[in-house]
Amino acid sequence: MTSMLDCLIVGGGPAGLTAAIYLSRYRRSVLVVDEAKSRCAWIPASHNLAGFTGGIRGTDLLVRIRAQAETYGARIETGSVRALERLSPGTGFRARLEDGRKVDTASVLLATGVIDGQPRMSDLYEAMQRGLIRTCPICDGYEVIDRRIAVLGHGAQAVGEARFIRTYSPYVTLLTLGEAMSLTVEEQGELDRAGIAVIEEPVTAVGIGEDQSTRLTLRSGSVLDFDTLYSALGITARSGLAQQLGADMDEDGRLIVDRHQRSSVSGFYAAGDVVSTLNQIAVAMGEAAMAATAIHNDLRHRG
Ligand SMILES: Cc1cc2nc3c(=O)[nH]c(=O)nc-3n(C[C@H](O)[C@H](O)[C@H](O)COP(=O)(O)OP(=O)(O)OC[C@H]3O[C@@H](n4cnc5c(N)ncnc54)[C@H](O)[C@@H]3O)c2cc1C
Repeated sequence: MTSMLDCLIVGGGPAGLTAAIYLSRYRRSVLVVDEAKSRCAWIPASHNLAGFTGGIRGTDLLVRIRAQAETYGARIETGSVRALERLSPGTGFRARLEDGRKVDTASVLLATGVIDGQPRMSDLYEAMQRGLIRTCPICDGYEVIDRRIAVLGHGAQAVGEARFIRTYSPYVTLLTLGEAMSLTVEEQGELDRAGIAVIEEPVTAVGIGEDQSTRLTLRSGSVLDFDTLYSALGITARSGLAQQLGADMDEDGRLIVDRHQRSSVSGFYAAGDVVSTLNQIAVAMGEAAMAATAIHNDLRHRG
């Protein structure tokens, strides 16, 4: 590519595609490069996104936003951005794609999301579509009110998640995949007061039970069935490109941005799960709107 893009958007989930709608409508030249591994594609039905009373499947939402962005002229390609470097100060960036192409751009929006830690199981996607494995109680805790819920994880993060889920059901059990549970006296007290059971014996296998339950096998061979399991195994931020540029990040490797989604690197913006914020579609879309508007205005002022 010889000409300079106004904005390269890395990632085509809800954040990247929403930004593409805004920037295209600001009459900016936009290319979205997307590896097509959006977390959104795992959502069987989202019930907390305003405007979709009956819920919307994640893949349907992606198709809709993508089509909307293309209506206004955004180019969207499947592929991977492998490297980002700054051109001479104030002039933009050069991206290297996996197919060897180089793309020069005045600005970059990072919308690469995160990867969920998950238990290893061959039918994970199917189990998630059936609601037997879940990752986000903010998203779908309402759908499991009064069910038998397992929470898989250890330490403070798992305790926090189990206590949050207690909002929805009195039948919550905390289990570990093998790591020591490592509970402090205070944490154990909090769990006791909330009526959350703790099983220290490690889970060695996660599967689907014959009665459509989530079946957990413990090291001793005993088997426990639950209506659903929340995986509290943490996330990995897809922020390697930001690292290459030296952008500021939090301890989880997520981007620290200002209230207009600008990172610490001039011309480099971020939105969605890869930002240190609440991992939700509505937030990703809101941040994308903010980022796109900041990009447009910053480019206008650059002249
Ligand atoms: C099972 C499940 C259920 C959920 N339910 C809900 C819900 O009900 N409500 C809700 O609000 N949220 C829900 N979420 C969370 C929601 O999916 C995320 O908050 C949302 O997808 C974040 O959007 P994003 O654009 O930031 O990242 P993503 O949707 O993850 O998109 C990031 C994209 O960037 C691509 N990418 C990464 N690196 C590169 C690269 N180097 N080059 C090119 N492309 C790259 C990825 O392949 C991916 O396609 C759920 C998540 C899961 C997993």
